[in-house]
Amino acid sequence: MDHYETLGVSRDASQESIKHAYVQKAVKLHPDKNVGALADGDVARGPSMSNDDFVKVQRAWEVLRESDSRARYDAELRERETREKFGVVNEDIDLDSLFFDEESGNFTHPCRCGGIYTVTEEMLERGENVVQCAGCSLLIRVLFERLEDA
Ligand SMILES: [Zn+2]
Repeated sequence: MDHYETLGVSRDASQESIKHAYVQKAVKLHPDKNVGALADGDVARGPSMSNDDFVKVQRAWEVLRESDSRARYDAELRERETREKFGVVNEDIDLDSLFFDEESGNFTHPCRCGGIYTVTEEMLERGENVVQCAGCSLLIRVLFERLEDA
C-alpha cells in the first residue's frame, strides 16, 4: 500500500485535499481518541483502529505534506511500479544495433538463452521500449528516438 492509498486520495490530489484527508484519518485513528471512545463504551464509533494504522497515516502525511518530498516519493513510486511491471531490465541496446528483418519489418535481437527479442514498428510508435525475450523472462530496453521526433 502506498501513501496515497493510506490517506485514501488519488495520486494527483491537491495539497489541500491531502491535508483534508489526513486530518479526517488522524482524527478517526488517533490512539487517544480510540481509548476515549472505548472508555465511553462507544465502540461502534469507527472501524477497528490500531496504532499501526495511525502510524501509517502519520508517515504518509509527513512525506506528502511537502511538495519536495512528495515529488521524490512520486519518482520512487513510478520506478517501483516500472520494476514490478517489467522486472529487471537486463540490458540497454541501441535500436541501431538490432537486426532489421526486412521480411517482417521487425527488429530482432538474439537473447543469450537462444531466444529472440522482437521489436515491432507498432511498439516503437507507441513508445514501448521494454521487450521481453520470447524464450525466457529477460528484458531489454531499446534506446531510440520517438519516430515522430525524428
Ligand atoms: Zn532469453
